[in-house]
Amino acid sequence: MFRIGYGFDVHRLVEGRPLWLGGVNIPWERGLLGHSDADVAIHALCDALLGAAALRDIGYHFPDSDPQYKGIDSRLLLRHVMRLLDEQGYELGNCDITICAEQPKLNPHIPAMQQQLAGCMACDPSQVSIKATTTERLGYTGRGEGIAAHAVALIQSKPSHSHVE
Ligand code: MG
Repeated sequence: MFRIGYGFDVHRLVEGRPLWLGGVNIPWERGLLGHSDADVAIHALCDALLGAAALRDIGYHFPDSDPQYKGIDSRLLLRHVMRLLDEQGYELGNCDITICAEQPKLNPHIPAMQQQLAGCMACDPSQVSIKATTTERLGYTGRGEGIAAHAVALIQSKPSHSHVE
């Protein structure tokens, strides 16, 4: 059985924060604001994975009102999401993430992001696609006010698992 999910997230860019994207710390004059490390790419991916399994959303599992998630490394959230899927008898097929940012240039960092996310999901980097685009200076991403990310994920039943109807 195959299932597909979609995720979307936005975080505001501010001074005085590190920039974390796809589990990689990218040198940049500003970073993303959020209760966690604000890794918008991982958040969109988590929502795609949760959505594929109909397991609600990232805010449901990790409320931003909960102090235990303050400043948390989003890679830990992704690992937790993968455990939830595993418990339901699912494994990753593949995922595809698009990060919308006017700056900085993300292409040099994409192989490192693939490695990081594949590590969190215990899969091969070839199952993790990450793409970067600008929005041609249009909108909040184009003005550099924030970074957005979209993700889709395909999950499948693990070979040995039979679903309870
Ligand atoms: Mg978020």
